Amino acid sequence: MIVTIDGPSGTGKSTVSKAVASMAGLPHLDTGAFYRAATLAALSEAIDLADANAVGAVVSGISLDQNRGLMFLDGDDVSVEIREERVTDAVSQVSSHAEVRRILVSRQRGWVAEHEGRAVVEGRDIGSVVFPDATLKIYLDARPEVRAMRRASQVGDDPDQVIEDLARRDHLDSTREASPLTVPDGAVIVDTSDLTFDEVVEKIVSLISAKS
Ligand code: C5P
Repeated sequence: MIVTIDGPSGTGKSTVSKAVASMAGLPHLDTGAFYRAATLAALSEAIDLADANAVGAVVSGISLDQNRGLMFLDGDDVSVEIREERVTDAVSQVSSHAEVRRILVSRQRGWVAEHEGRAVVEGRDIGSVVFPDATLKIYLDARPEVRAMRRASQVGDDPDQVIEDLARRDHLDSTREASPLTVPDGAVIVDTSDLTFDEVVEKIVSLISAKS
C-alpha cells in the first residue's frame, strides 16, 4: 500500500499527509524534508548552488533518514534548521539538478522499502516519478490566494512576501526540466480551497479504504 500525495505548497499537504498516515496506520515520508536537508548540506559547503556537479557530489556523500516526523542529516536532527529561510530560499535551485533528484529518489525508495513497502509519501514528483505504480495517487491543490493565506498564518510572515515566495517556488518547481511538479497520471485531484481539514483527510482515508 503506497499512497502518494503531491501538490504545491500551501495546500495543506504536510498536515493532511501526516493525519492520513496516522489514521490509515501507515508510515509517513515527507520528501520535501529530504530536499531541504540536502540543501542544508550544500549550504554548509563553500560551493556554487548552480554548479550541478558540485551539489551532486555533496548530496551523494550525505546520509538521510526520517523517523517519527524528525529529519536526520548524517545522524543529526536537523528538523528545525531545514525550515530556516536560507534553506527555503535555496531549496528549489538545489532540487532542480537532475543528479540531486536521482540520488534522492533512490533514497526515498529505499526508505519505503525499509518500511515494508507501506507508506504515505508526500512531495512534488511522487506519483509521477518516485512511485508511478502507487496504490493510490492524490494531487492536492488550492486557489493561489488560499494557499498564500495558509502559508502566511503558518509561518507568521507578511502575506505579500509569502505570495511572492510561493509564486517564485511554484514557477521554479513546475518549469524545471527534471521532474517538474505535475498532476500524475491516474491521480485523484482534491481541491482543498473550500474544504475543512477534516473533510480532506476523511476523503483520502475513504479512498484508501476502497483500495484495501
Ligand atoms: O514540501 P516542501 O515545501 O518542504 O518542499 C521544499 C522544496 O523541495 C519544494 O519547493 C521543491 O523545490 C522541492 N521538492 C521537490 N520534490 C519533492 C519534494 C520537494 O523538488 N518530491
